[in-house]
Amino acid sequence: MDDADLAQELEAAIITIALLNRPSRIKGLNGKCVWCEDQPVVANTAFCSAECCEDHRKHTRELEQRGGSSPPRDRNLED
Ligand SMILES: [Zn+2]
Repeated sequence: MDDADLAQELEAAIITIALLNRPSRIKGLNGKCVWCEDQPVVANTAFCSAECCEDHRKHTRELEQRGGSSPPRDRNLED
C-alpha cells in the first residue's frame, strides 16, 4: 500500500465516521457528492448518503484488489 492508497483508506474511514454523526474536515466537490456527483453532500462529509459512501468504499477496495499491490483484506472465503 502506497501513500495514495493509505490516504484513500483514511478518507473512507473518516467519511464513514462522519456519516455516523461525527464531524470531519472532508467536503464534497462544490458541495456535491464525490461519488454520484449529483446530490448535495451530507453536512461535513463528501457524500450525499451512506449508500454512496459505501459504494465508494467498495469501489476503492475493488481497485486495490485488482491492482494487486495490497494484500487481500476483509475477504470472505466461502468454499
Ligand atoms: Zn451520492
